[in-house]
Amino acid sequence: MPEIPEVEGFKYVIKVHCLKKKIIDIDSSDKKLIKHNYADFKKNLIGHEFVSTERRGKYLLIKLNASDYTLVMHFAMTGFLVYSKDSQKVKFSKVNFYFKDKTILHWISVRKFEKIWLIKSFREIPGLNNLGPDPLKLTKKEFIDLLNNNKSKNVKDFLMDQSIISGIGNEYSDEILFQSSIDPHHKIKDLTGNQLLKIYNETHKVLKYSIALRLKDIKKYSERNFFLKSDRETFKSSYLQAHRHTDMICPKNKNHKLKKVTIAGRSSYYCPKDQK
Ligand SMILES: [Zn+2]
Repeated sequence: MPEIPEVEGFKYVIKVHCLKKKIIDIDSSDKKLIKHNYADFKKNLIGHEFVSTERRGKYLLIKLNASDYTLVMHFAMTGFLVYSKDSQKVKFSKVNFYFKDKTILHWISVRKFEKIWLIKSFREIPGLNNLGPDPLKLTKKEFIDLLNNNKSKNVKDFLMDQSIISGIGNEYSDEILFQSSIDPHHKIKDLTGNQLLKIYNETHKVLKYSIALRLKDIKKYSERNFFLKSDRETFKSSYLQAHRHTDMICPKNKNHKLKKVTIAGRSSYYCPKDQK
């Protein structure tokens, strides 16, 4: 995290609160996270306005008026945005954008894996330049074709590979496979046609449900912190997400214990009894 649903939430923050307002100042408490010369970064942003925003995979792109530059944010594992109307200090805020109407956008990075760029071309960020299509924009046939074109790949690795499909990471790939009742250890070639179809359907279901949740949250807390509630309180209890960080109980059967294993280099959670 943040993955598609969370970045959609951040996009909402920019869209509703930060467009068409002149940036009058910027400061940063950790300039190393800005992948651009800091003096130029400030110079190229101050006096401009954000005019539009879009999500590409897990990246958030923000276009500026009267400029060829695009501001790009990547939230890695612990990044998020806070929009505030007062100047109180926000914990872990690494870059602050001050607008003319005295509001502030705080770009938060807790563990410092997050990055921010000011670019003229996607080629400046290889991860962005080589993104696969967005899963929500793929038709059923396109999605199944992609799976079939990557038969020797592990299924969880497939879902997380940004160059194949973009925007899904560790947590939502676990959720999609849990809801599909598929063991995350499988290679795609081990799965039946019905299982492939299930992955397509659950990818859409899980992402759409989670985007709606995040947007509901952000509308409620738009002027405060983004993740005020824990995943346990946010997600319905039939979701792995409500249990993986807490009681480790299987959402389908309280007598099953979730298992944590490493797959494709990431900590994956699944129910060995329900996922075959
Ligand atoms: Zn179970």
